[in-house]
Amino acid sequence: MATALITGSARGIGAAIALRLAKDGFDIAFNDLNEGCFENNDIVDRVRALGVKAEIFCGDVSKHDVCEKIANDVNEHFGSIDVLVNNAGITRDGLLARMTEEQYDSVIAVNQKSVFNMMKFVGNIMRRQKHGRIISLASVAGLYGNPGQMNYSASKAAIIGMTKTIAKELGSRGITANAVAPGFIRTPMTDKLTEEQKAAMLAQIAMKRYGEPEEIAGVVSFLASDDSSYVTGQVIEISGGLSM
Ligand code: NAD
Repeated sequence: MATALITGSARGIGAAIALRLAKDGFDIAFNDLNEGCFENNDIVDRVRALGVKAEIFCGDVSKHDVCEKIANDVNEHFGSIDVLVNNAGITRDGLLARMTEEQYDSVIAVNQKSVFNMMKFVGNIMRRQKHGRIISLASVAGLYGNPGQMNYSASKAAIIGMTKTIAKELGSRGITANAVAPGFIRTPMTDKLTEEQKAAMLAQIAMKRYGEPEEIAGVVSFLASDDSSYVTGQVIEISGGLSM
């Protein structure tokens, strides 16, 4: 049985990806900050009910040594890591003139350094396996910029460069790396935006609706499947036509 490790998977897009990859037959290695993140939801039970194995590997993925331990623990527990989904992410929005160093550094650490950490440690495991799929959550903010998100846009643009780099470094080892760039998806992350911010975003979307986490999970499922075996180093925008 193949295993998928999904960071930040207690809720939102990460939880939807876990459910979808479980439906595809993957055992699921959940990760989030701590056990408490899983307390008020039934995502692990829902995944197990599909007949696959599921375990939680808690830890802050912005920390290098924590990621090394998570990667080794998942590999030891399941025997392989076939799919890595770099999903954990945060926002600390503010216009550049008022953005603090802490706001900048925290978003870079969680959104960007975590991807370096996981690509390194899981990449080493995948190299030995001679196969693997790495899928990272970028954002339209990383492609086009977004006012109030200097920190977030920087982290998401970096993920695109990192994805292309690891695709080139590990392509000959049978490992693919791709990114998805969601637009506005309904999750706890976007719930905190003001009605004015949400309306401004909606006006730019060709399909005139927000996306659902399952619509990201479907594309991740494709990138984790055999159907995408010759797709690597790519960024797939999933935004209902935010930009064309
Ligand atoms: P969310 O806030 O609902 O979920 C993020 C999860 O990551 C949470 O469970 C959180 O506890 C976890 N997390 C945060 N910091 C962590 C850390 N240091 N270590 C481990 N886990 C941590 O967010 P979401 O909307 O589901 O977003 C998921 C991913 O998709 C993020 O990378 C986000 O940037 C990206 N994204 C989301 C949208 C959107 O519209 N929601 C758009 C573009 C990209």
